[in-house]
Amino acid sequence: MNPKWNGQFSCFDLVANIDDRARSIVRAGNVEIGGDDFVVMAGPCAVESERQLLRTAEAVAAAGARLLRGGAYKPRSSPYAFQGLGIEGLKILRKAGEETGLAIVTEVMSGEDVDLIAEYADLMQVGTRSMGNYALLERLGGCGRPVLLKRGMTATLEELLQSAQVIAMNGNPQIVLCERGIRTFETATRNTLDIAAVPVLKTVSHLPVIVDPSHAAGVRCLVPILARAAAVVGADGLLVEVHPAPDQALSDGEQSLTFRQFRDMMDDLQPYLAIREAARLPSPQLVVAGVAD
Ligand code: PEP
Ligand code: MN
Repeated sequence: MNPKWNGQFSCFDLVANIDDRARSIVRAGNVEIGGDDFVVMAGPCAVESERQLLRTAEAVAAAGARLLRGGAYKPRSSPYAFQGLGIEGLKILRKAGEETGLAIVTEVMSGEDVDLIAEYADLMQVGTRSMGNYALLERLGGCGRPVLLKRGMTATLEELLQSAQVIAMNGNPQIVLCERGIRTFETATRNTLDIAAVPVLKTVSHLPVIVDPSHAAGVRCLVPILARAAAVVGADGLLVEVHPAPDQALSDGEQSLTFRQFRDMMDDLQPYLAIREAARLPSPQLVVAGVAD
């Protein structure tokens, strides 16, 4: 371990990788995240209708996804944008999960909704805009479901682990971290994918780490190549947006893959998953370079 990181992160004792503690495996429904498998979670940004979600669930399951994503409660940048179907969306998610065998990941925005969403979700998503909402994180400590904690768009890795520590301190060690891109001066992409976050987090924490290439890219043509990068640096999986007709999507259509593009992405990932094995532990060079700095 780079001594700088040891000093920086070891205080978050429940989530830090102290004494080379064994890596955590997080169970969401029937899926293990953080084990040998590269776990792909896919689906639309928002649940829009039963037909939209069922079709998407079938397509992503056939291509190898293990979890179905879809927002029923949507945090939108514009208050005029589609805010989600709420409980109706949760019911549609459950139906699609039962029909396809996919586990469900969906976002929770408010502490008041935690118990309701926990009845429907196998993995509770905390979005980038909520990472620092400690009242919500504290409630998630007692929800009985694992949590997918997305990095705040202006948050450091230290702040991300601080939020994870809050969930763990409140009784829930089942946490998956997600790098989804951060705000920088660059405008060609929606966010800047901090690819180094993956090996750093895998070094300083025992928690699984996944990458969301969709919200990082903001455009669908970059999603497959960022997904490959995630695999090669040792991520435990992906969160990817897929829609039956992205041009008609009520949210995030520009970054959503079609069914065919998702299938192609999954096929093209295969050789990179073999390389991923080599990146699963921090390489000696990485550690030595850190010490010499
Ligand atoms: C999402 O996953 O659709 C989402 C809103 O993500 P983020 O919180 O990363 O913007
Ligand atoms: Mn989205």
